[in-house]
Amino acid sequence: MYDVKSKNAVEFINDDEIQSTLKYAAENKNNLNLMREILKKASECKGLSHRDAAVLLECEDKEILEEIYALADEIKQKFYGNRIVMFAPLYLSNYCVNGCLYCPYHYKNKHIARKQLSQEEIEKEVIALQDMGHKRLAIETGEDPERCPIEYVLESIKTIYGIKHKNGAIRRVNVNIAATTIENYKKLKEAGIGTYILFQETYHKETYERLHPTGPKSNYAYHTEAMDRAMQAGIDDVGCGVLFGLNLYKYDFVGILMHAEHLEAAYGCGPHTISVPRVRPADDIDPNEFDNSLSDELFEKLVAVLRIAVPYTGIIISTRENKNVREILLKRGVSQISGGSRTSVGGYVEKETPEENSAQFDVNDTRTLDEVVNWLLSTGHIPSFCTACYREGRTGDRFMSLCKSGQIVNCCHPNALMTLKEYLEDYASPDTREKGEKVIAEELKKITNPKVRSLAEEYIENIKHGKRDFRF
Ligand code: SF4
Ligand code: SF4
Repeated sequence: MYDVKSKNAVEFINDDEIQSTLKYAAENKNNLNLMREILKKASECKGLSHRDAAVLLECEDKEILEEIYALADEIKQKFYGNRIVMFAPLYLSNYCVNGCLYCPYHYKNKHIARKQLSQEEIEKEVIALQDMGHKRLAIETGEDPERCPIEYVLESIKTIYGIKHKNGAIRRVNVNIAATTIENYKKLKEAGIGTYILFQETYHKETYERLHPTGPKSNYAYHTEAMDRAMQAGIDDVGCGVLFGLNLYKYDFVGILMHAEHLEAAYGCGPHTISVPRVRPADDIDPNEFDNSLSDELFEKLVAVLRIAVPYTGIIISTRENKNVREILLKRGVSQISGGSRTSVGGYVEKETPEENSAQFDVNDTRTLDEVVNWLLSTGHIPSFCTACYREGRTGDRFMSLCKSGQIVNCCHPNALMTLKEYLEDYASPDTREKGEKVIAEELKKITNPKVRSLAEEYIENIKHGKRDFRF
């Protein structure tokens, strides 16, 4: 039976509830009055239930669709403004004991190069990332308890935080590793991680079990209850995600919202972020096998409805998507993107040859970080390298209450400008620098609180004279 507060996966992600939600949404596919009512509710910026969101996802009426897009944009402006937080993935190891059918790291794939970075190699990768200008990483590993135990991950986090090269520093390490025990989550918390990220891949139990035939990940309940264990261990920033294309997108859309509702109901805090990757080509994987892929148009609608349904949750898009899709999705509610990414182990230092390919998926946006920053500035955005919240202890429900009251913008906006200034001073090309300086000058004028504005101006002047790491 459906129970939002239950600690049991099949009760908080309840198949009957999802099926009846999908039925209800399909029955109301042409109920424009209901959609308008839901949009009115959504305009209060308090989010939507999975049922209401599922109805909006069915919308095919052009006029209402435009209203959905306008509201998604309005909510995005209210909570995130024109700021886009930047990050990069760092692949540490691609050894994996699981048999996921959609991922080239599955243990049966014998023609992918297997690698695990030593601490010295991690240092080189991190220096390469720092030299690009990155401050926020998401570390990624395959699941292999023997080769890649929690101790290796903890040591790697310590190494990453410890590297100070020129003016560079990685200030936030998010961690995307396999579902694990409460004890291990406690260790990750102690190591000072930012967000714990784990993609559900699909919430549909049968499909999940078919796609994960072997290995520890084949246990649906253990995987689906991972965020509960993370939260019980004290990690209050968690990042959810599904891999769209593996299953019927409508099912997984409802599933991820029910997961968010569960975390909020059971632990008082929903997910910090939601990622929306789509299946991409990769070695030994045929994307045609997954015939549930989402068209660009449906994907756009899905992101917009998600923005409306969970206004306080960051939405992340990776370099799986090309520049054009990313540009559209930025308008629909995406608040965080990766840039200059390599999806192979050691890929920031060494260029991969086809024989040595160790990438998890083909990147669709191959621009450098500077090109991405330049593009964001040209399209009216402020690229932000801010990592302030978790370093100031603003995590979990403390973060959420600041977010819900709209006060977080008093931190995000000046922090974005200060970290952009650091980027311009240390890493930007002349053209990016020129564009960035103009944006900073304009945006400083928009800070309404005179005290905050004058402090931000002072800090930016200090950054110009070589000082670093100011934050609100
Ligand atoms: Fe391993 Fe993760 Fe790939 Fe599955 S998705 S094969 S667990 S790396
Ligand atoms: Fe994110 Fe906090 Fe920085 Fe805002 S102030 S961009 S919420 S880390």
